[in-house]
Amino acid sequence: MKAVVYREYAPDDDYAKILKVEDIDSPKPKPDEVVFTNKASALNYNDIWGMRGVPIPVPVPHVSGSDVAGDVIAVGEDVQGFKVGDRVVSHSNLACRVCSDCTSGREFDCTRRQVWGFQTGPLWGAYSEEVHLPEVNVSKIPEGVSYDDAAAASMTILTSWHMLVGRAKITPGQTVLIMGGGSGVGSFGIQIAKLYNCDVIATASPDKLEKCKELGADYAVDHRKDDWHKEVRGITKEIAKKKGGAPGIDLSFDHIGETHFNKQLTLLKYGATLVSCGATTGYDAKIDLRHIFFKGINVLGSTQGTKAELDQGLYWMGQGKIKAAVDSVYSFEQAAEAHTKMLSGKFFGKILMKPEGA
Ligand SMILES: [Zn+2]
Repeated sequence: MKAVVYREYAPDDDYAKILKVEDIDSPKPKPDEVVFTNKASALNYNDIWGMRGVPIPVPVPHVSGSDVAGDVIAVGEDVQGFKVGDRVVSHSNLACRVCSDCTSGREFDCTRRQVWGFQTGPLWGAYSEEVHLPEVNVSKIPEGVSYDDAAAASMTILTSWHMLVGRAKITPGQTVLIMGGGSGVGSFGIQIAKLYNCDVIATASPDKLEKCKELGADYAVDHRKDDWHKEVRGITKEIAKKKGGAPGIDLSFDHIGETHFNKQLTLLKYGATLVSCGATTGYDAKIDLRHIFFKGINVLGSTQGTKAELDQGLYWMGQGKIKAAVDSVYSFEQAAEAHTKMLSGKFFGKILMKPEGA
């Protein structure tokens, strides 16, 4: 079968030099595994880290990719919940399922956890015509949800759902700030907050503001402006006039980090929460701690989520309440181009990649 393979790193981001479509062996299922086709797979930033060989030297030869949707074509003898023909999507969090963190329902805290397609290999990731995963790492796709949307959603909706629902305990009617609403996690963040009937203010670059509103954001603010936070403050005053209470943000959803972190803290109400899953602009934020202790702010970290949370997100996609934002679709042969586009940041939602004929 065909797969997108690299055998050396590209610290200079010259992906065309290393990414080749090669023939590799088709997978045979282990007793607990499901084998399924790749009808659509989605790019994630960990593909870039993998190709750079930092922060960890991923196993080579490497097949990258953590999100994939397709049809089951074989199951191992111990598999109970799937049969040939089922439409499925990957859950890329390979946890041990045995340790006290896993058995406490916190598989994302498992110290033996690996992200499939990033830390795994050699030659074990989503960008191949057929993939194999343990049954516990596979979810059924609800009727009405396409392969494209399921692949675009998997790791991203899981991350957003866990941040807002699992960690920050979002409640109806809150005023929610979604930083970077044009990204994959941001676009789901907007929709999950609207599912909870919250007032949603999204930030994005100017070209993405309208799309944030199309996804349901009540307000969209250009976060490239120095005084973006003043505009958000003004909006929260409007919302407070309507709802009563103090102006400000109840819940801030962050993955931008350094450049915008402290200004988010200034916008938070007393007792409010900031939940963070990343730091795309850098991790070295300068923080005025008075915002945290004086206002009693909760700062929560969040990484991935549980398979149950993925299933909840998929359920609401099946109900038509949340949709995936797909920016563009590339073939395996165009893998370098697809990843270069992701590096540019000039896209909205997810970039997909498919084998020929999928
Ligand atoms: Zn574990």
